[in-house]
Amino acid sequence: MADNFIEQFIDEDLAAGKISSIQTRFPPEPNGYLHIGHAKSMFINFGTAEKYHGKCNLFFDDTNPSKEKTEYVDAIRRDILWLGYHWEKEVYASDFFDVIYEYAEKLIKEGKAFVCDLSADEIRETRGTLTEPGKESPYRNRTPEENLTLFREMRDGKYQDGEKCLRAKIDMASPNVNLRDPVIYRILHATHHRTGDKWCIYPMYDYAHPICDFLQGVTHSLCTLEFEDHRPLYDWVGVNLGFSPKPRQIEFARLNLTNLVMSKRYLKKLVEEGSVHGWDDPRMPTLAGLRNRGIPAEAIKDFCQRAGVTKAQSECEIGYFEAVVRDYLNLHAPRAMAVVDPLKLTVTNYEGEEDADFEINQLDENAGTRKVKFGKELYIERGDFSLDPPPKYHRLKIGSYCRLKSAYIVRADEAVTDEEGNVVEVRCTYFPESRSGNDTSGIKAKGVLHWVNAETCVDAELRQYEHLLRDADYSGQDFSERIDLDSEHIFSAKAEPYLKEAADGTAFQLMRTGYYKKATENGKLVLSEIVSLKDNFNK
Ligand code: ATP
Ligand code: MG
Repeated sequence: MADNFIEQFIDEDLAAGKISSIQTRFPPEPNGYLHIGHAKSMFINFGTAEKYHGKCNLFFDDTNPSKEKTEYVDAIRRDILWLGYHWEKEVYASDFFDVIYEYAEKLIKEGKAFVCDLSADEIRETRGTLTEPGKESPYRNRTPEENLTLFREMRDGKYQDGEKCLRAKIDMASPNVNLRDPVIYRILHATHHRTGDKWCIYPMYDYAHPICDFLQGVTHSLCTLEFEDHRPLYDWVGVNLGFSPKPRQIEFARLNLTNLVMSKRYLKKLVEEGSVHGWDDPRMPTLAGLRNRGIPAEAIKDFCQRAGVTKAQSECEIGYFEAVVRDYLNLHAPRAMAVVDPLKLTVTNYEGEEDADFEINQLDENAGTRKVKFGKELYIERGDFSLDPPPKYHRLKIGSYCRLKSAYIVRADEAVTDEEGNVVEVRCTYFPESRSGNDTSGIKAKGVLHWVNAETCVDAELRQYEHLLRDADYSGQDFSERIDLDSEHIFSAKAEPYLKEAADGTAFQLMRTGYYKKATENGKLVLSEIVSLKDNFNK
């Protein structure tokens, strides 16, 4: 059963016998790190191949030598594997430069391409508009022999950048601007990250892509909607070079998320200007950033699945993404306790120490319990005690009862204040028969509080994040005006010693605080926010 329109097309092609198996490709340009939008493209390219028991290649679109770097190639590979996808072959557009060149000679010989001496500006000026046809180039009627000689001279380095180019000879009056004698080769004296200085002419994306697809045996070339108007050119290349079976291009809508910048160009700017700590800054929408943030790969795939494959452009609420991540972590993340703004709680009638049985994850039957040391001196959140509570206050106030998570019910008896009247300690009584799991006290506690043992707890640095991009209505529309440079906030906290021992990278639910990833930096326990605890998104 087809799940979306792409699969419907594929089913039609299979039924019509045009193809017998499915080959796709994920085609990043190695000019930056992958972001969550690319996860959607991977979900579609790898996912569709998987569903049809076909294959998906990793295709590096490296036709633009001046922007590409091997660092990016490595990062892209790492991020794909992290998401859990496996490519059949790793292919580069540059692997095919020789063949792509031969095909250009073929077009020239058949009178379907010509060398043009107009400058890039002149070509743009004579291209016409959506309502007016373009003007034919004065070089359009050069003979195939002359074109061949000139093109070979271009290849051999006889001309400067921009002095000449090769254009497909299609139709300057076409209603589709992309078919008005598009440039298919340009001169660029630049060192390529793989072919070095072998070439000083490079094919244009619209010409190279269908050839690379065909040479890889791609059956369905799945790409984003901005290529829809380029499909006639994609097909023109396939028809005129006699490709059979001709790959079929199908376009889908990009993934856009509110409060995130989703363009490599802008992301690169943020990195280069030092507005963030790097490509993997936890606020970045890059896969490296999301991983560093502690967002599980499964949650990202789940999100892509739920967001669906459509042809309609839309912007997805960042809150929806966060809700999916939260749902995932709620089911999978072990619970732990840390206190962000500690207030001393002394249990006056308690002596000694004992282990409380702490439920690791009440939603996971197999998670079990672990021991947490209870004692006389504890810390609770400052906000969990009030001397002057508002009505319906369910936390601790003088004379009220609360349960300390996994341990006992306590009653607050007395608050110790400093000269300025700030509470510095709360003294309470515990009830031995109220132990969690075996409570015979009959006392009704209003709230459940998290706590840490003052003696055994460890210091932690807690990091919280706001969105990198303020809401769309914030001042201008320009990304750079909406960037929130003050979106990382650092606090100190007291944490269970267990957190220090846990494996780096583990995602925890810090009870009543949020979901945090554990790391160690210079020997120090660092807990950084993955996503808040509360769902403020209405699914
Ligand atoms: P950017 O503007 O961020 O540089 P791009 O489209 O230039 O994006 P590519 O490296 O060319 O980046 O993208 C590889 C593939 O991922 C392409 O097929 C592209 O259409 C797709 N892709 C890029 N961004 C998104 C997105 N936001 N949603 C879905 N697919 C995307
Ligand atoms: Mg691109």
